[in-house]
Amino acid sequence: MNVIRLKSIRKQLENERARLYQELNTAEDKRYGDSFSRERADIAMQTLERDKLLALTGKTREHLLEVEHALQKLEEGSYGICDRCGKPIESGRLEALPYASQCMVCKTTCNKANKNLTGRDG
Ligand SMILES: [Zn+2]
Repeated sequence: MNVIRLKSIRKQLENERARLYQELNTAEDKRYGDSFSRERADIAMQTLERDKLLALTGKTREHLLEVEHALQKLEEGSYGICDRCGKPIESGRLEALPYASQCMVCKTTCNKANKNLTGRDG
């Protein structure tokens, strides 16, 4: 992979990271801000909203970790190399998911393993 391509990927990942951080901060503001200022009647609604928010931030956090991991791989010069088998990740896959850290084969195997062993394989 050439340097210009890597630079644009880094830029893309950094933008994504900034966006995710902002999303998490906004979600957290909402969570804590609301709980003090709202009336008791709103509590049921709030709980619902909070559940949604937590599910959302959970996903955002997960995604943020993936992005951070990809940036770390860029830093170490191992970007584009599969975490599991050490083979290059398909370039089409990287274009679609710049934060991908596993090749298609490993990702598929990993998903299958997780289904069969229910979480034994980390
Ligand atoms: Zn692999």
